[in-house]
Amino acid sequence: MSTRRDSREKGPTTKVIQALSSALGSDPYAPIVTPIYRTAPFMFPREDSPMIRGRPYKYSREDNPTIVTLEKAITILEEGEDTLVFNTGMAAISTLLFALLGPGDRVVATREAYGSTLHLLKELERWGVKVVLAGPDSGDIASEASKPGTKLVFVETITNPLLHVTDVPEVAKAARESGAILVVDNTFATPILFRPLRHGATLVVHSLTKYMAGHNDVMGGSVTGPASIVSDRLWEWRKIMGTTMDPEQAFLVARGLKTLEIRVKRHCENALKIAEFLAEHPKIREVYYPGLPGNPSHSVAKRLFPSGMYGGVVSFRVRGGRNEVLKLMRRLTLVKPSPSLGAPESLLAYPVESSHSSLSPEERKALGITEDLVRLSVGLENYEDIIEDLDQALSAL
Ligand code: PLP
Repeated sequence: MSTRRDSREKGPTTKVIQALSSALGSDPYAPIVTPIYRTAPFMFPREDSPMIRGRPYKYSREDNPTIVTLEKAITILEEGEDTLVFNTGMAAISTLLFALLGPGDRVVATREAYGSTLHLLKELERWGVKVVLAGPDSGDIASEASKPGTKLVFVETITNPLLHVTDVPEVAKAARESGAILVVDNTFATPILFRPLRHGATLVVHSLTKYMAGHNDVMGGSVTGPASIVSDRLWEWRKIMGTTMDPEQAFLVARGLKTLEIRVKRHCENALKIAEFLAEHPKIREVYYPGLPGNPSHSVAKRLFPSGMYGGVVSFRVRGGRNEVLKLMRRLTLVKPSPSLGAPESLLAYPVESSHSSLSPEERKALGITEDLVRLSVGLENYEDIIEDLDQALSAL
């Protein structure tokens, strides 16, 4: 007899903690936490069983139990069939693009994609890939994505630094019309806010360096999607490009994942309080946060993120421009100047000098990235303390 209890699905954090701790249950000295398999080769051949990816384990550039355990946990979170992890987010993105693209292929990418992703796409033009930049408006991306001959569409759930939320279902519908592969970089949203594969994406990528690992102490990347792409062609390309994650990294990312849900909730709660504080501050010209009702992405965000959480990053324009921004950075004590995001420490980035420094001033202006714009990755500190620090530094401008 099936009871309501039998049919209830476990929550994502329960499933992740289970996946990361019970993988070695048959070991007579079974550890609770999957250990670091600090070995390059394994004893091989060991069994008659057919090879699936790099298993039975043979060599750590192909597969390693510590990284496979992490991959299973990410697969659960993103609701895919399989995951591969890489040594950085850019290793994941470059392996993916090299594996799936060839000369003559048409790629549509959001013009607000991460700077190194855009740089890589530009380099791929030398190999005959045709790159079309579109957006950030989702309708514009969808109209390019639906054009016949499109091979791959690359978007980000929440873009950097102006935090536009992409209408992934709309873009997915357009990509289906042209038969294109839709890749969604879900780094800023995390699967706690949004699961792109549920909404029509083919593949979801992460810079695990950010919220997924979550502690500013390890780098990593991942790709999740159907086994027919991930376990086959992408796995072969990870092997030949040598972009596999190291087991030491995998251990740290796995440790971070167990607290992903509670950390993301706190990041989001803090970010909303700080966005509301900044929106009222006389030294601030404009605040960008999809959780604010006046934000242009608020209605899409409300539809796509039913949890009512809108991410841990808040961008804003400081009245007065560059000099005032630099003064602000010098006066902050708790918030540190730094280009990364998604970890316990609140960090303030200056996009004109970090993520978008390789663009010309005209290109930056077209994207709305000017000298008065800063991006705050709201940390896990008590929000009253972050606000106090911002307030003392802003009031001195
Ligand atoms: N995707 C996004 C949205 C990012 O913000 C970043 C890095 O900041 C990357 C990809 C690249 O990840 P990594 O720095 O881990 O190579």
